[in-house]
Amino acid sequence: MTFPVTRLRRLRREAVLRDVVRETTVSLDDLVMPLFVAPEALPNERLPGMARHTVEGLVREVEELVRLGVKAAILFGIPDEKDDEGSGAWVDDGIVQQALRALRPRFPELLLLTDVCLCEYTSHGHCGVIAADGHVDNDASLELLARTAVSHVEAGADVVCPSDMMDGRVGAIREQLPETPIVAYSAKYASAFYGPFREAADSAPAFGDRRGYQMDPGNVREALRECELDVAEGADVLMVKPALPYLDVLRAVRDRFDLPLAAYNVSGEYAMVKDAAAAGHLDEQAAALESLTAIKRAGADIVITYWAKDVATWL
Ligand SMILES: [Zn+2]
Repeated sequence: MTFPVTRLRRLRREAVLRDVVRETTVSLDDLVMPLFVAPEALPNERLPGMARHTVEGLVREVEELVRLGVKAAILFGIPDEKDDEGSGAWVDDGIVQQALRALRPRFPELLLLTDVCLCEYTSHGHCGVIAADGHVDNDASLELLARTAVSHVEAGADVVCPSDMMDGRVGAIREQLPETPIVAYSAKYASAFYGPFREAADSAPAFGDRRGYQMDPGNVREALRECELDVAEGADVLMVKPALPYLDVLRAVRDRFDLPLAAYNVSGEYAMVKDAAAAGHLDEQAAALESLTAIKRAGADIVITYWAKDVATWL
């Protein structure tokens, strides 16, 4: 049947019709709010989602998030001191461990995820330890990453999310934590869209870049191989990061794998919309909700987004 019998506009006429036939919706159930915890607070007026909180400030922030209906948060820590190995990542009184111990008993209903990486804690800012030849030592980093994940779970984390992109990290963590869900940053690209995060987390590499371990933006088949390995090593959820410039990767992973799929709507994606809205070019709420809808439509079940708190007030 074609026109004039078929008229697709019939189902677009009224809001209630559009609502009932909508294929993809954004729900607070699917969103994870990133949170930064540090010894000192650092507000961010331009990008409120990128502010650093002290442990006490974080408790107040989470109180508000929970009251608004946010169901999950992922923690990133900025330590007092950094060293070559990134020992602040796994010490018992590390900043994330302190935050978890403060949050866990107060908010039993909140899902607490943690980012597992060394780059916020190493003096050189790389995601693993540096070998004598100046490269990131993959195998020597695995034990430290697993140790970090274990310390997070001991402090109260529900889910650990390795983001370092070392080969074998999911298996190394799985061996230590047979019962903990692992959200693997499986296809994490060496992206230009991480800028505001690196400022917030103070994690810019002191030398070189992360292209020696993060993925090349031109590759999608390689992303599928990364996912395949993470599944084999015991990941429970796969992730693609960033989200908006990689919607095709999300779709490819969705079509190939049956695991839940997460997407990280990264700081640069957030900042672009925020700045364009501040300049009067577009409406932040509409652009943010459209972006989140696109990420879900591409195949993501879970979206980590700095808009999670705002969405809670918008929906
Ligand atoms: Zn890292």
